[in-house]
Amino acid sequence: MNPNKAAIYARFSPGADREKSSTIEAQIAMCRQKAEADGFSVDEADIYIDRRVSAASTDRPAFQQMLANIYQRQFPARLYVKDDKRLFRNVKEALVITEDIWQHEVEIHFCLADTGDPRQSDANWFMGIQFQVYAEMERRRKARETYEHQKQNALAGFSNGGLPPYGYQRQKVEITGATGIKKEKLSWQINPSTAPAVALTFELHQQGTSCRQIAEILNQQGYRTQKDNLFSGATVASWFRNPFPFAGVMIWGRHNKKRQVTAEEELVQQPQSYPGIISLELAQQVYQAHKNKDKKPAYRGSKYLLTGLMKCAHCGQRFVSHTNLKKKQYYYVCGYRNRRKSSCCNHLWVQMKRIEQQLRTEIDDYILAEGFLESYLQACLTDSETDQPTQAELIKTRQQQLQQCKVRIDNLVSALADQTLPQQEIINRLQKEQKQKVELQSQLDRFQSLPEQKVVDLGQFRQLLKRELDDQDCQKAALQGLIDEIKVYVDRRMEVKFKISNSPTSPRLANPADRGKTGYGVLPRARVLI
Ligand SMILES: [Zn+2]
Repeated sequence: MNPNKAAIYARFSPGADREKSSTIEAQIAMCRQKAEADGFSVDEADIYIDRRVSAASTDRPAFQQMLANIYQRQFPARLYVKDDKRLFRNVKEALVITEDIWQHEVEIHFCLADTGDPRQSDANWFMGIQFQVYAEMERRRKARETYEHQKQNALAGFSNGGLPPYGYQRQKVEITGATGIKKEKLSWQINPSTAPAVALTFELHQQGTSCRQIAEILNQQGYRTQKDNLFSGATVASWFRNPFPFAGVMIWGRHNKKRQVTAEEELVQQPQSYPGIISLELAQQVYQAHKNKDKKPAYRGSKYLLTGLMKCAHCGQRFVSHTNLKKKQYYYVCGYRNRRKSSCCNHLWVQMKRIEQQLRTEIDDYILAEGFLESYLQACLTDSETDQPTQAELIKTRQQQLQQCKVRIDNLVSALADQTLPQQEIINRLQKEQKQKVELQSQLDRFQSLPEQKVVDLGQFRQLLKRELDDQDCQKAALQGLIDEIKVYVDRRMEVKFKISNSPTSPRLANPADRGKTGYGVLPRARVLI
């Protein structure tokens, strides 16, 4: 440990314009000045520099070396850094490493906004963390900005880096921006030595050659992959799954951060960005063919719409589906009896189509009938009006609470400045108040953003429900949403309990006239059809 010596850490991110704003020389000069003002001198060997390294990167050689030296206690007494953003990737890292460095008896000093020894006082610790949180916010904003810039770059038909597609090589293009400044962009140009392999691959594919055979032919002709390996059928197949880069389409954002393939609609695909080896039509044709080939049969949901809803009134078990494919007969039967005939005496075999059609008629006549939803909504509104504060009342109370909270925070802050009360206690209470303030503010925002008592368009809702009940893909979900349970009695009676009903206390019973009809007893809430 050298008592009057200090070290400096400096870093700048990749990217030309950022380099200008804070050069390494400026950072070092700034740190050296502060060190000397504090009575410390800096040896050249104690200056650590990471050039063109993002703070988010795990690979910061100078930073790693510096930490190693600190841990081995071969380090000056102080470390000077321009600001906390130079040092840490995120809040978590900052918390751990800052404390670690101080523990190894090295003082960290920032030229901008020095927060002091976090172990010395809770206020120092608190301030340090505030700066870290702010820095992280900045990093997130920056990441978002970079994402948008790259997207725009791709939309303009340029690459954001990475390997070119097979058959291409990098090409630097100079363009003149809107402000007249010349910029260098990256694009792809045909690589005469590998492009014929791509053309050959798609030609062979058109003739019906398999991926594996194509790979063998490419290998025989002496072609190798970009990583200098032999071609495999899988590599060739991957070209057919994503053939657009070979047709001059600049693609960006194909993988997300976890290297998963992103949804097609989130991709940037810009055609005619560079010369194609194959035509766009061919690429589209191959893509469609392979897309359909890979696709599993679409999920149609269960053929049986009422599984899970029907319940045996006798034993309480659910009804399950029973299919006889040979006779093309589809039934619901008591699940218990289905396993062992002697388990339940409910011997009903309920025809799938028949019960489903009958239920649908019931829904049309009852729930979708004019007036039902209207009176249901009216009943709901009456219920909620009586026991809930209005939106305006909620907003008013939250505003008052927020105001009180702000006053308390002001008082605490002045108490902190006066240093009359125990600091820790004040900070604890301050944190609590801050939390409450954020919570109140978000509640207030939510209440204020609510539309004022909107009138529901029930006609539209009715149409929507009808459409869902007709749509094969979602009719099951719609039914499950509408119906609570269907009880099946041995005497072919069924009780349908809907989730919404206008007569919760006295269920409407079936019109006796219906009793003579064939079919099952189905009624909203409790209908008997025999
Ligand atoms: Zn049963």
